[in-house]
Amino acid sequence: MEFQTKLIHGNWTGDNHTGATNVPIYYSNAFKHKTAKELEHIFAGREAGYVYSRIANPSVEAFEKRIAAAEGGVAAVATASGMSAIYLAVMNILKPNDEIISSSGVFGGTYNLFKHLEDYQLKVKFLETLDEESLGSEISDRTKVVFAETIGNPKLDVLDMEAVAKVCQKKNIIFIVDSTITTPYLIRPISYGADVVIHSTSKYINGNSNAIGGVIVDGGSKKYGDDKFSGFSQYAKRFSRFAFTAKLRKEIAKDIGAALSPMNSFLNLVGIETLGLRMKAHCANAGELAQYLSTHPKINGVNYPLLNNSSYYGLAKKYYEKGASAIITCRLGSKEKAFNFIDNLKLTKPGKCR
Ligand SMILES: *Cc1c(COP(=O)(O)O)cnc(C)c1O
Repeated sequence: MEFQTKLIHGNWTGDNHTGATNVPIYYSNAFKHKTAKELEHIFAGREAGYVYSRIANPSVEAFEKRIAAAEGGVAAVATASGMSAIYLAVMNILKPNDEIISSSGVFGGTYNLFKHLEDYQLKVKFLETLDEESLGSEISDRTKVVFAETIGNPKLDVLDMEAVAKVCQKKNIIFIVDSTITTPYLIRPISYGADVVIHSTSKYINGNSNAIGGVIVDGGSKKYGDDKFSGFSQYAKRFSRFAFTAKLRKEIAKDIGAALSPMNSFLNLVGIETLGLRMKAHCANAGELAQYLSTHPKINGVNYPLLNNSSYYGLAKKYYEKGASAIITCRLGSKEKAFNFIDNLKLTKPGKCR
């Protein structure tokens, strides 16, 4: 299957009970089984199946499988929001006194979350520029995770994924990439060496602004077998390339319970079908708008990675052949002017809806 076909048909075998062509919304908290023994096996993770929707649900699983197919991952775990996806992914790996190295240009919510982790004996180093050189000098024995966004929201710094992945491979560090802004239509970070890919599905993947959600895609890394990741040792032995997801499902995802609802999974499944078409249009519009704004006499410092005066142009050309997504920033000289500009937009009107 080509990418666009995967968005519609990837990992979907149809509903055997009714022949429904869409994934049914299984609104059931619990699932019954013939015997208590069978139930026990599923509960203990010895057999696949459904028991309780905090742990697994067929509608949610259909979404997880669809996005795993689109990203080229071995598995995925859907969560109640992008923030819970990031929290669960990093906490699946970290132990007290461990360290995360993060790009400083990350989404504000992620920055705050990482800052708060310092209250729990975790160390976070923010790097203004996250590349081979800066990583080389900042990595310590306690560094377990390197975290970055494909294209930073809203700094719009373009990550040199291949270079960072290479350092993480050499030092056996888990490389987590937030690809919310770029989506699997523009880039598949696993193919560049990312170990885990995160999305806030609330944005482009859902696409219709009707469901908050997140997802953690497992690239099937072999790194977890190392003694350094002692929490994974039983999972690495038993589940091999599924070690990350196995631990996540059996431990923190289940413990915290930030499960995506069956309804939101359905809305995401409908949304993701048009992801390719939408991203193509978003990129074309953003590219044209960025060009136009950069020639406007009253606007300075238009920031879009595919403008040829951007300091990230080279990287953007290398990684984002199809477009650099649809965030543009620019400077108007003062906050007053910026607010005036926003208030005079005709289609996006903050505060004018009532
Ligand atoms: C929105 C966003 C998040 C947070 O996702 P929510 O679904 O709002 O919790 C994380 N990362 C990026 C890059 C985002 O844009």
